[in-house]
Formats: sequence, structure tokens, C-alpha cells
Amino acid sequence: MSSLFRYSRWVSQFEKSPLILTFFSTATTESQPSRPLPPPIRVGLTEYVGRSVFATRRIGTGELIHTAKPIVAHPSFSSLHNVCYFCLKKLPDDKSHSEAYPTVVFCSEHCKDQSKNFYEVEKKADWSRFDEYCRMQGLKYPLLVKRFASQVISGVVSADSLDILQPATLTSEMVSLMEKEFCLLRSTFQETDVKGEQMAFLTKEWYTGVLARMRINAFRVELAGGSYEDLLSSAAASVEAEVAVGNAVYMLPSFYNHDCDPNAHILWVENADARIKALRDIETGEELRICYIDASMNHKARQTILYEGFGFLCNCPRCLSND
Ligand SMILES: [Zn+2]
Ligand SMILES: [Zn+2]
Repeated sequence: MSSLFRYSRWVSQFEKSPLILTFFSTATTESQPSRPLPPPIRVGLTEYVGRSVFATRRIGTGELIHTAKPIVAHPSFSSLHNVCYFCLKKLPDDKSHSEAYPTVVFCSEHCKDQSKNFYEVEKKADWSRFDEYCRMQGLKYPLLVKRFASQVISGVVSADSLDILQPATLTSEMVSLMEKEFCLLRSTFQETDVKGEQMAFLTKEWYTGVLARMRINAFRVELAGGSYEDLLSSAAASVEAEVAVGNAVYMLPSFYNHDCDPNAHILWVENADARIKALRDIETGEELRICYIDASMNHKARQTILYEGFGFLCNCPRCLSND
């Protein structure tokens, strides 16, 4: 009951909030780029899974349903020197670099400008200990929290802007493992001239709350090879993807539920801007679902990964048929 109340509260926030609406842009037709059409979806509630995304009209196979800009994105360590530090676009070879961190490169003046505020904050600090710890432990989400914290300190987003996303359930063991990375993050900021009140939000509770949401909601950004037209005309869920260039958290794409035989798919073409496209014809009112994992795995492997990674036992039609 209380959770339903919470959901209905944030769904109405979702409808009204210009903040959230800035996180996704609408699909535009090729011939009328200046007149965006509203995306043919609505976010609603279902009794058992909370928020869900539904089609508000018939959507054809291959149709681009909407695009979404990340709330926060960060390159993976292995891509740090060959993708844009803001949008994760691959840099041309002559712009890639191998010099030691903290040299980072932006693909354009636009990305440099978009990063100005958080990067001013980030640049004040020496991240070598924090980054080294994350690299050694193979941690990727703390990099997203680092960027998110820099964005909050710079004033471009508020500290609670991820609160409406569903958090993972963390065991006390998982929380205690986060102690070290949290202390490194906080002490790194404390060594700068960032004022105490600007980082008052940066508590252990805030850190674990944000990380719990990133664990479930962050997407691995894999830039697809091939042209965008090819991707749209293909109805296959698995497009040929190159290596993951980073991780990103979005608002609207996080509202899609999972299905092992999905009717929609999220993909990235040149940067971390996500595109959601229809994999088959979808009727008005039908729920849109994406597959959170590699759909080609067998039933047992899918169940295990979904339970361990996302905390649920999948009962989609495909799983119920033991496929
Ligand atoms: Zn860029
Ligand atoms: Zn399933």
C-alpha cells in the first residue's frame, strides 16, 4: 500500500517535472526535425511490479520509440583515453591519447561546455587513490557516483534526483564493502576547497542509496557497429555490438520492465544517447519491455543472473514455458 502510494506520487511527479522531461528527447521524423512528436508511451502502474511503460498507440516493428539522454554517464577505465569524457563517443584516432590521467578529451565544444560545471569540481581533486582502488577492485559504479557527486556539488543536479529509481536490496555485507570507496570519495573532495555545506549531502547513506540504484538501473553502453538505418531495419534483438565504452543511468529507460523475449530494445549508435526501438509490432495499451541481459542464454542462466543482478525471479511467458 505504502509503496503504491509512493509510486503514484512519483508518477505524477514524472508527468509534471520539467527536470525529468529534459532527460529524454522525443523522436522526430526525418522530414520535420523541428516538430518533435510526443513519444507514444505512458508510464503507469501495475500491481506487482510498480512502474511500467505502455504503448499509447500502435507501434510498428523497427520504429524508434524515443531517445534518452543520460542523467549520468562515465567511460569505463579501458575506454578512458579513446572516448569522449562526457558523451562516450569514440574519438578519432588522432584525438585518442595515452598520457596519464587526469588528461581527458571531449569530442566537441558542446560536450566540453556541457561538462564545464562538474569538471571544474572534479579537476580540483587528486583522484589517483580513488581511481586506483576502483580499478584494482574492478568497480564501475563508484565512477558514476563520483561524477554524480561532482554534478551535485557544481549545482547542476540535486542530490536526490535519482531517488525515484528503484534501489537494489543491499545486504549488510555489501554495504560494509562500500565503506572504503565511500571514504575515499569523501576524503578526496575534503582535500579540495569545496565548502563543507556544498558536500553536506555526501553521507554514507546517500552513497549507498545512490549505488543501490545504479546497481539495478545503470546500463552498459555498447556502441553498435553499422549504420543507424541498418539497425532500425533489423528486427533482431542482438545487434552487433562493439566493446562496452562505459556505463550510464537514464530516467525513462529505467522504467521499462524486463522480458526474456522483449518487444523493445535499447541501443546506442554513436554515443551514450540511448534509443529505444520496437522489435516487433506493438498494440495500443501493450506493455513495452526490454531484456536486461543477454537473451540468448538458457533458462537456468537467465534466472540466476536476473536473481543475483536484479533481485527477481523472472516469470515472463518464455521463462514459464521453460525455454
Ligand atoms: Zn562528446
Ligand atoms: Zn524470463
